[in-house]
Amino acid sequence: MKLREIYAQKDLRHNGIYEWVKPKISFEIFPPQKDFDKLLNEINILKSYNPEFISITCSSKNTNNTSIETLKNIKKELDINLMPHFTCIGSKKEDIKSNLNYLENIGVENILALRGDEPENQENIYKDFRYANDLVKFIKQETNLSIGVAGYPEGHIEAPDIYTDIENLKKKVDAGAEAIFTQLFFNNDKFFSYIQLVRDAGIEIPIIAGIMPIVNYHQITKMLSLAKISVPKVLQEKIEKYKDDEKSMTEFGIDFASYQSQQLIDAEVKGIHFYTLNRSYSTAQILENIL
Ligand code: FAD
Repeated sequence: MKLREIYAQKDLRHNGIYEWVKPKISFEIFPPQKDFDKLLNEINILKSYNPEFISITCSSKNTNNTSIETLKNIKKELDINLMPHFTCIGSKKEDIKSNLNYLENIGVENILALRGDEPENQENIYKDFRYANDLVKFIKQETNLSIGVAGYPEGHIEAPDIYTDIENLKKKVDAGAEAIFTQLFFNNDKFFSYIQLVRDAGIEIPIIAGIMPIVNYHQITKMLSLAKISVPKVLQEKIEKYKDDEKSMTEFGIDFASYQSQQLIDAEVKGIHFYTLNRSYSTAQILENIL
């Protein structure tokens, strides 16, 4: 099912009327370096929560190939809708085209179109695509894929301000994007104001909230250092408190993400995309808490 159909689905109410009821759930995983069978087990557990799809991250360093390989292997083992992430920075147009053709030929319907992070050494990289909006335009021209793009509730790290970033987001939407997947956030108020700003800019496609349950101190501090993500005081205190206690950090992460998700459900968001970090435990607990 394509993104535009997924987020337009309505649920059957007890009174027999179809209405929007619950957000659509999806999960993000990354290609594992080893132990593919463990990942399959985790996906099998998550599958019981009926996700609309599972997205697979890619590395812009290997021109999407590991992501495609992982997607192919999961597809062989499990019957599940998969959405590859797909970066364009440093890639040649003909390679992008042949990867897109391959994905469509094996039945992929949706793709997350990204620029990717700029490499430190800019010499000798192909400049066929400058920004993600160039990739969206190309995918739209060349394929029938339904396209998701990235959004940043507190602004992308390179953008001078949130307004400029949203103007740039609009270029991706005007080029054909059908859903916006946000960077993870911990402050729902920032997400709600972002939705307002995006709507004020005339963008009407679904905005899907990115939620990540915290499990590990080093992982989270590294992520926070690479992006604009504000951390509420209570969260900051607990992150420090459970620095050396992964079990308590995990349980706190579940509680915090459950609270965030419940607020998002109450606010009638269209979808929640969980960053699972290839582990089912926290995400499954959150879903048990909220669904
Ligand atoms: P763009 O939309 O191109 O934006 C990049 C910057 O350029 C922004 O500051 C924007 O304001 C500005 N800009 C955009 N268009 C224009 C324009 N036309 N003119 C001038 N300025 C412009 N990275 C990976 O490598 N692999 C992944 O799997 C991956 N998955 C992600 C999933 C999600 C949900 C998110 C939110 C991010 C993900 N990323 C991933 C990270 C992403 O690649 C980086 O954040 C990257 O730096 C920007 O990618 P983008 O597609 O948002 O770029």
